[in-house]
Amino acid sequence: MIDLRSDTVTTPSDEMREAAASAEVGDDVYRDDPTVNELERRAADLAGMDDALYVPSGTMGNQAAIRVHTDRGQELLCDAQAHVYKWELGGIPQLSQVQPRTLDFGERCVPTPEQVREGYVAEDLHRPGTGLLCLENTHNSRGGVAVPKERIDAAADAAHDLGVPVHLDGARFLNACVALDTDPEAMTESVDSVMFCLSKGLGAPVGSVLAGDQAFVDRARRTRKLFGGAMRQAGIIAAPGLLALENVDRLADDHANAARLAEGLNEIEGLSASDPDTNIVMVDSEAAGLTGEELSAACKERDVAFSAFGDYTCRLCTNLDVSEADVEAALDRIETAVAAA
Ligand SMILES: *Cc1c(COP(=O)(O)O)cnc(C)c1O
Repeated sequence: MIDLRSDTVTTPSDEMREAAASAEVGDDVYRDDPTVNELERRAADLAGMDDALYVPSGTMGNQAAIRVHTDRGQELLCDAQAHVYKWELGGIPQLSQVQPRTLDFGERCVPTPEQVREGYVAEDLHRPGTGLLCLENTHNSRGGVAVPKERIDAAADAAHDLGVPVHLDGARFLNACVALDTDPEAMTESVDSVMFCLSKGLGAPVGSVLAGDQAFVDRARRTRKLFGGAMRQAGIIAAPGLLALENVDRLADDHANAARLAEGLNEIEGLSASDPDTNIVMVDSEAAGLTGEELSAACKERDVAFSAFGDYTCRLCTNLDVSEADVEAALDRIETAVAAA
């Protein structure tokens, strides 16, 4: 099976398994796990933040950030297609008692300064007040769009002018940095916190990181405990995470494979693919007379897996376990599947 469902489907390399087996560990709740401590230090340095916290998932990192930045009953401003709003089980109201206010950030993927001001609600006797702006880079649901630093900065500056902090859901922000040739530190310069995943394109089996200033990370550590995410000898899973940090530059290979995939898909009668910024390709199958579900089912029978992402849209994601040759093989099989359907 050539698995293009996500960049989360990769399995750990032999080196990662060996690193897990030989990791120096201790009880991380006592801050005694040297491997976790090193991972948090290196992740904080990479993101240009004071400190970082190792969390079991990106979802926990985002939701903990939201909880720390907000007071109960406030509003949070985000894109209508934001992962924090759309794909995290309604965690914003459930875990933080915060009301999301969504705007359509459109193809820019982050709001213009005007949209920030439009979406902002000042606290008064009747209105809850805006407690947080959430941005996303790369933007998952909009097709892995790499958002340039300037746009992040403009949105964040507008929020800060209103006294509103900014969290970046950077699950794949390193893909954005590689695609745009921007330093990770520069990409996060104007935000107050960033979450990024080790378990996606970077290839770790488990874990994400939440970074910010010292006071923020100290509070996030308490929230992680509240959410049931304080772990003990977590160096076992953090050790592969350290190796994952060495995989940043090779994200460019995934991007090149995605570009080739999109080019090949566009050559198949009835399919039209997005021009990918990073490792996510959206393909429209309406002209082939196939729904997204039908296309993905037909390809799965031929051992190529990807997911329907809308009525006539599918999402294909290149990853560490997909080679250039796999991309060519996948294209052949998809072409055969479409012709036969
Ligand atoms: C995957 C993802 C998350 C959540 O990460 P998990 O580890 O799956 O919980 C958050 N935001 C975005 C944009 C993602 O793509």
